[in-house]
Amino acid sequence: MHLARFPRVFLAHLPTPLERLDRLSHELGGVEIWIKRDDCTGLSSGGNKTRKLEFLMAEARKIGADLVITQGATQSNHARQTAAAAAKLGMACHLLLEDRTGSNDANYNNNGNVLLDHLHGASVEKRAGGTDMALAMEEVAEARRKEGKTVYVIPGGGSNPTGALGYVNCAFELVSQANDRALVIDHIVTATGSAGTQAGLVCGLKALNAGIPLTGIGVRAPKQKQEEAVFNLAAKTAEKLGCPGVVARADVVADSDYVGAGYGIPGEDTIEAIRMFAELEGILLDPVYSGKGAAGLIDYCRKGRFTRGERVVFLHTGGSAGLFGYDSAFADDARRVTTA
Ligand SMILES: *Cc1c(COP(=O)(O)O)cnc(C)c1O
Repeated sequence: MHLARFPRVFLAHLPTPLERLDRLSHELGGVEIWIKRDDCTGLSSGGNKTRKLEFLMAEARKIGADLVITQGATQSNHARQTAAAAAKLGMACHLLLEDRTGSNDANYNNNGNVLLDHLHGASVEKRAGGTDMALAMEEVAEARRKEGKTVYVIPGGGSNPTGALGYVNCAFELVSQANDRALVIDHIVTATGSAGTQAGLVCGLKALNAGIPLTGIGVRAPKQKQEEAVFNLAAKTAEKLGCPGVVARADVVADSDYVGAGYGIPGEDTIEAIRMFAELEGILLDPVYSGKGAAGLIDYCRKGRFTRGERVVFLHTGGSAGLFGYDSAFADDARRVTTA
């Protein structure tokens, strides 16, 4: 398997750092927690979509696209990173943002990722929650093609076999970093949503025969549905890579116990996880994905599912720009400010 055979544009700062979190590890009873810093991929404040966009935008370039269309929730990190990638490559970008939470909060609707979408020059169209977004994108794409545009449509989250190659690449990178420092990784934990990250990772880990179990912490769908989405995409990605069948259904594990009230709604455990990473390690998580992933990681440590001395890598998928759309979730903090 040789990723250099696939078209690619270089957008990310790679390799991202692999760091040990000493204070968090101590706080959680001695599980040795490491972090893979995919929040530091560089493009427009970073995040996991940039690795996928290296392969997706290369395809867009190959067909001579002058317009890229994608979709996501209002505070989509994927939309923001796509807008930034399009800006860098001189393509126009049109975003369809679905109102999945029904929030009327001004910052949720205009700040954070939405502010950055505009700064990167993307045009933005809002759609009601529950819209068939894939279909909506196709309709918009068809209209633009009739106007003479060459359009490249990227699915939500950049999650197709092309995008997942970015996380096959991450699996290679992570295992190589661990090899170089003689670090035996016992487990990997990451947030999982549109499935491309986990699908690419599991595909890369299995292709390497790394023997490292991976758990995806779900942010939206129930366990069964999430695992099937990841498995189906992993199977297609393996085919694209030339190693069909390398991922077994049993290799795909998702845990949806930390979704809470729903997609984009942080629970108390999400907020606690964000505070712990910020206060103990100076690391910013986000309220939609990495905060929920970290809530799962923390709970696994507390419940003894990970034990003292085990080495667990948390893949930080980014998203901190979303914090500025969620200041109301941290309203208590305002009360901590004192005046003389
Ligand atoms: C999109 C996203 C995820 C989930 O990755 P998928 O490939 O969609 O499963 C996790 N964390 C952040 C910050 C994201 O933006």
